[in-house]
Amino acid sequence: MKIYNTLTRKKEEFTPMDAGEVKMYVCGPTVYNYFHVGNARPFVVFDTLRRYLEHTGSKVRYVQNFTDVDDKIINRAREEGVASRELSERYIDEYYKDAGALGVAKATVHPKVTENMGEILDFVRALVDKGYAYESDGDVYFSTRKFAGYGKLSRQNIEDLEAGARVDVNETKADPLDFALWKRRKTEDEPAWESPWGWGRPGWHIECSAMSRKYLGETIDIHAGGQDLTFPHHENEIAQSEARNGKPFANYWMHNGYITIDDEKMSKSKGNFFTVRDILKDYDGETVRYFLLSGHYRNPINFSREMMEQARSALARMRNAKTTLKHLAAGAPQEGGAGMSEAERAALAETGRFRDKFRAAMDDDLNTADAISAVFELISFVNVAVKDGASAGFAAACLEVLDELAGVLGLLRDEAPAEFGEDVMKLVAERQEARAAKDFARADEIRDLLKGMGVTVKDTPQGPQLLRE
Ligand SMILES: [Zn+2]
Repeated sequence: MKIYNTLTRKKEEFTPMDAGEVKMYVCGPTVYNYFHVGNARPFVVFDTLRRYLEHTGSKVRYVQNFTDVDDKIINRAREEGVASRELSERYIDEYYKDAGALGVAKATVHPKVTENMGEILDFVRALVDKGYAYESDGDVYFSTRKFAGYGKLSRQNIEDLEAGARVDVNETKADPLDFALWKRRKTEDEPAWESPWGWGRPGWHIECSAMSRKYLGETIDIHAGGQDLTFPHHENEIAQSEARNGKPFANYWMHNGYITIDDEKMSKSKGNFFTVRDILKDYDGETVRYFLLSGHYRNPINFSREMMEQARSALARMRNAKTTLKHLAAGAPQEGGAGMSEAERAALAETGRFRDKFRAAMDDDLNTADAISAVFELISFVNVAVKDGASAGFAAACLEVLDELAGVLGLLRDEAPAEFGEDVMKLVAERQEARAAKDFARADEIRDLLKGMGVTVKDTPQGPQLLRE
């Protein structure tokens, strides 16, 4: 598999350090709210990478943190009059609900800042001891200039960075380029931990360096996140980790592109800020996942109602194909493809080419857009093959291929979640009765009624089959 490495700006063959286990770290959410569709993209994209690596036989140790100490959490908790801990725990629970709806599997470990304070303090202390960091009035800062490779990920030099550097009024750093590893407590009500520099809490960047080291080791295979994290977050992570460990932090850096909303940058002030929780009111989680995977992860993607509707109808086609195959496969159970005709055996062998195409797309820097096309080509091919009926064995074998490929993308996970309602099922039963009584006028009338409800009825030798528009 080839992966585009932000560090080298090249597509490179992916070779994990230990063939037995890929070590992967993805920056997780700051838990002060439901996560928005922009946050959802890295969760879904890198979950898909993990699924694909596992599909091709790798074991993946996947770490995604929760930032549960942060100014945004503290401010939000103050507004609500609750403890920071209560607020962050609530949104961790909500994260699992929304991520679950999107088919994002739980990480091997989801470490939290509050549960790794010992490691974080150790890390800061080690940097101070090595001369890479210094204490100033209860804060601890990283001496950016001391780390020779600073800027290598985002390709910026120190002079340019210096021109853009700002110092916050609360900060007491020696150089505008330095960044906080530890922040002294400023008010009594903020969460704080005891440290050699007094009571305080960690800066944002240090947690990922500390937790990545603890759970994955000093050098990892893949570090990933949204493009907006490249600078300063990931640049600072590299500086901290490589300064302390004296070895490369991550061999491959992966970044997904931005999401725009109706072609505009997402921002709270523009009112085009959508949480996944909001979107799930109108679309099921798989549709959101399909949308997020429908473009290449490094390209920007535009979220709009039109794009979501396209995703919905494309996914409906995939689901219908699965429904048809399940229906045929259940028709007359046969063992091991018995009952397959010669033509079906030949057709089944041909499905291998869609699997190859799917894998070639995924091997090419996780090109999920092309992988989805391969799934649709498979579906078209199978639809032609089963047009005039098919043996149960053939249908079951095709279903297996479809499930395999869609499963790597985290799609078609379960029965079409929007099951047909009671009203639909009642009409279908009524139509069957009309047909049995040879009242074809009534049967056609009901078929049209169903059509108006977005449901197509197909009469097959196994009985009526329902498909969504
Ligand atoms: Zn991070």
